[in-house]
Amino acid sequence: MKPLAAPRDAARLAQSRDATEFAQSCDAAQLAQSRYVGRFAPSPTGPLHFGSLVAALASYVDARANDGQWLVRIEDVDTQRCKREHELTILRQLDAYGFDHDGEVLRQSERGEYYRDALHRLAMRSLTYRCVCSRKTLALAHRNPEGEIVYPGTCRDAAVSAEVSPAAVRFNLSHREVNAAASFDDRAYGLIAQQLREAVGDFVLRRADGDFAYQLAVVVDDAQQGVTDVVRGADLLLNTPRQIALQRALSVATPRYLHAPIATNSNGEKLSKQTRANALPERHDEQLAALRDAWHLLRQTQIESAASTREFLRQAVAIWQPERLAALQIHPAAQNL
Ligand SMILES: [Zn+2]
Repeated sequence: MKPLAAPRDAARLAQSRDATEFAQSCDAAQLAQSRYVGRFAPSPTGPLHFGSLVAALASYVDARANDGQWLVRIEDVDTQRCKREHELTILRQLDAYGFDHDGEVLRQSERGEYYRDALHRLAMRSLTYRCVCSRKTLALAHRNPEGEIVYPGTCRDAAVSAEVSPAAVRFNLSHREVNAAASFDDRAYGLIAQQLREAVGDFVLRRADGDFAYQLAVVVDDAQQGVTDVVRGADLLLNTPRQIALQRALSVATPRYLHAPIATNSNGEKLSKQTRANALPERHDEQLAALRDAWHLLRQTQIESAASTREFLRQAVAIWQPERLAALQIHPAAQNL
């Protein structure tokens, strides 16, 4: 990895390049999809843990095996939960584990103008509306099998004016221009289809506190960075139809998707900061062991010996068989679609 430039400089570089290449990159992604562009997009809510290592490994190896680029994007759009210190830790961890990335690190917290622009384009076509429902009111709403609130559309026809604040902004799935039936062919999980109105309802694009929602940010970023292939943990499998509906509304390309199995603890819970997952080990032998475990979880054939993390990754790229993931069981949540 290149030494990290001072964060401000890095951001300026990334943004000035974005401004001129925005249209080009979206077009390029739509037209050709020839050159593979992948990405790893961690949220700096804590250091990387074993679960994030699995996602990083799968996306890195798939990109390099396809002679592609591998970008790193810091998903710090949630300003309440994300911290710069965690970002620095994550970048250090990626380096220690041998993941060399291409280009500048992009930071969502510095990309508000692009999210605002996308939201504006949707609003101009009346594909959004303002919502003043309180957390308390929404707590009574129906929840989907993943535990998410299915927004009942309370404010859809209320025409909440721009003067009323705070208000969230939601995507109007009932608008005739929106196709709320989204499906995609995941490289591991096969065909995933979702009726968005029933499964999640009009979802939030901008929160009442002013932060842009993950779904909007990720769609804008993937399009602008020309990402052709999204490889990430299966915990995001059922976010994908929302992102596809937004991609269509914004007329940007839909990447290919590969969702990798997620690591769980002994209670069967997804490893995360909430389940107190440990930070990745720093001792060299433990790092190699963690890579080995992650590789095993990805159903890959064993790598006999590697002297360093970089050597491990070189071998992994050479023997990567993504088709081994296609034998995965249907995602339990997908059965409820
Ligand atoms: Zn509402």
